[in-house]
Amino acid sequence: MVMTRIAPGATLGIVGGGQLGRMIALAAAQHGLKAHVFAPDADSPAFDVAAATTVAAYDDAEALARFASSVDVVTYEFENIPRETADRLAALAPLHPSASALATTQDRLSEKAFVNGLGIPTAPFRSVDTPEDLTLALAEIGLPAVIKTRRFGYDGKGQRMLRVGDAIDPAAILSEFGGAPCILEGFVAFEREVSVVAARGADGAFAAFDPCANTHRDHILALTRVPAPGIAPATAASAIDIARRIAEALDYVGVLAVEMFLVADGDGPERVVVNEIAPRVHNSGHWTIEGALTSQFAQHVRAVCGWPLGDPARVGGVAVEMHNLIGDEAAAWDAILAEPGAHLHLYGKGEARPGRKMGHVTRLLLPP
Ligand code: AMP
Repeated sequence: MVMTRIAPGATLGIVGGGQLGRMIALAAAQHGLKAHVFAPDADSPAFDVAAATTVAAYDDAEALARFASSVDVVTYEFENIPRETADRLAALAPLHPSASALATTQDRLSEKAFVNGLGIPTAPFRSVDTPEDLTLALAEIGLPAVIKTRRFGYDGKGQRMLRVGDAIDPAAILSEFGGAPCILEGFVAFEREVSVVAARGADGAFAAFDPCANTHRDHILALTRVPAPGIAPATAASAIDIARRIAEALDYVGVLAVEMFLVADGDGPERVVVNEIAPRVHNSGHWTIEGALTSQFAQHVRAVCGWPLGDPARVGGVAVEMHNLIGDEAAAWDAILAEPGAHLHLYGKGEARPGRKMGHVTRLLLPP
């Protein structure tokens, strides 16, 4: 890949203005770069820490052109930007990760076909556009299963479990999703969920953070622990190898996260099944800000600027826990500040609505 090397003093364009964009902008500033954030909402958390901001819709061609021509390189913190937006940006400025990596991973159907094409297991799946498709897919895959919209799902939105014994009305189920194209996945009876956050540089270098164990509450990530407690070294190595193969096949530049299920079906090491790929920095990588020699945000900035990747090792080899502060959990900020060694991050969001990620706290579990 032809890669422009960006120098400090240059401007990094970030599409998307949430907490991920905010933390990328902070890492850009740490490296002497200016961040220009493009987001549709004037209240975007990333705007507080950016040198320049554009408030415009993702399909506003004129605003995109002005933005792209005012920056030296563009990245994104949000995979649900339209493919056309990515193509427009890429025509005017270097875009990392690429528009094609974005397109493959933002649709669950193309994503799973791509992963299976590499010989990596996923849940069995079928494309579902009509009630007839769903009936056929259920006959082939069986119950339990999970129906999901192909695009725009996050934090459990746009998906529904179908259990053994449920009375299933295919037309009613599809209308719940507003007729959006869907995918039916077989239910994976997993032991636990892990993710690998990793980076690939413009020169093809690859660096993975240690696989971490993720616990969800109400479909929202609540807790990340690293190293994943009790994970067999062979399983950890296999999870990292899967992330590497995915990054290489996408010719990826930047940080990505691969969410995986670990399945125990015998006496051997747990089997790794890929759930999904996030073509961006990821909530399960927030622990790296204090817990790793290079944070995922600094790593992403390095990769998209064409710089050498940093060392992803855990600081002193310590174990780390990251708790999300969801909704009114952020009201405990003063108690967290009083706790020795707790690292508090708040995203500057106004209203603490239920389910809203307001911040996170990271604790390095230092030996006594
Ligand atoms: P997703 O939006 O695909 O990340 O799914 C959200 C969560 O739902 C996952 O983290 C799992 O806990 C659960 N889930 C999703 N798909 C499946 C599946 N095929 N089998 C079992 N659990 C699933």
